[in-house]
Amino acid sequence: MKRFRDRRASDQLSCREVGKVLQAYLDSALDDLSARRISAHLEGCRRCGLDFEAFTQIKAALERRAERTPEDPGVRRLRAFVESLVSGTADGL
Ligand SMILES: [Zn+2]
Repeated sequence: MKRFRDRRASDQLSCREVGKVLQAYLDSALDDLSARRISAHLEGCRRCGLDFEAFTQIKAALERRAERTPEDPGVRRLRAFVESLVSGTADGL
């Protein structure tokens, strides 16, 4: 039998909610409980896990490049990509 995503609102974050705070999570700007809920969701959700990996790599790339070439057009494209993810345009499955 196939089961869809458990929707207990009290302790399960939706992918949309995770997407909204993913950047704060990456910046360690979330409180401990929220960070734990995000991390639990990322472990159980392949889609958000992939998003998180992409964010991690982009963030690392941005930080590496920011030290040398802050006006690199490639960095601007990456940043625009991140912003489009954060603003919720990457919402649907
Ligand atoms: Zn998810």
